[in-house]
Amino acid sequence: MKIPVYFSPDYSVDAAFDTVGKSAVVARSLRDDPIDGIELVEPRPVGADLLGRVHDPGYVHQVLTGERGQFTEHGADFVASILASTGGVVAAVESVLANGGFAGSLSSGLHHARYDRDSGYCTFNGLVVGAVRALDLGAIRVLIVDFDAHCGGGTASLIERLNERGVTGIEQVDVSVSSFDNYPSRPGVMCRVVGGHDYLEAVGEALDSVIDPRTIDLVIYNAGMDAHENAGGATGVDTDVIRERESRVFEWAARNECPVVWVLAGGYSSARFTVDDVARLHRITAEESARVGRVQWKSMITPASATD
Ligand SMILES: [Zn+2]
Repeated sequence: MKIPVYFSPDYSVDAAFDTVGKSAVVARSLRDDPIDGIELVEPRPVGADLLGRVHDPGYVHQVLTGERGQFTEHGADFVASILASTGGVVAAVESVLANGGFAGSLSSGLHHARYDRDSGYCTFNGLVVGAVRALDLGAIRVLIVDFDAHCGGGTASLIERLNERGVTGIEQVDVSVSSFDNYPSRPGVMCRVVGGHDYLEAVGEALDSVIDPRTIDLVIYNAGMDAHENAGGATGVDTDVIRERESRVFEWAARNECPVVWVLAGGYSSARFTVDDVARLHRITAEESARVGRVQWKSMITPASATD
């Protein structure tokens, strides 16, 4: 079984900031230089009703009519982008809950989005939207693993708001190298900000801190590359560290038989680090999910799903 990686040309907006521009560069890289075990699949756009169960329906309406959002200068292209890329996260969730294993979406700009406003280049929180879709499909425990350089305060606030409405089952572990969008840790939702030289150790500790991981029905992995020292992150987090991080995440998940949906998250180009360099970092997530999928997941899929 190949790992579906969701992408549509609608994801990317020409001449836009990396958050909504880089997915096409990553997709082109995956097409020009394919990774064994990965296939690109086009998702359907997300429906406004699902968005309105995570975000304020009035805010959703304003974004979809072009009145709100951080990329409104791109008009209808931006609305198509946000619906397609959020739809990709949902499609990836549906895929792994049906088939097990791993899936990805070249979506980014997710974890800072709040209930009724955008924040930090994030308009809708696709991580929480995906998690709510998983609960709809029968998942009991959904773990968001957020290793973007910045803290996922938007996600934490949305989990809290859902909890207040009686919706439980979404947890988060978050390791960051920047305190931007930090939030107080509480049981099941924890954030740690560390220096670059402590990064891998903290990643390992975060995964080890997850209680009873074999009962997790879905991991949604916010695989930010902005922790990398050249992509906006911290000295000491180089390409080898990033590859080791991705390897640890997918091996931990395979060991615990957790399906994983991964998304791109942060990673920024600059005069000295091009968008192609950023795309090469994001490829590492695809490469490591494919590698672990090939060597480990095959032996763990159940006979029922093996016959699908
Ligand atoms: Zn970030």
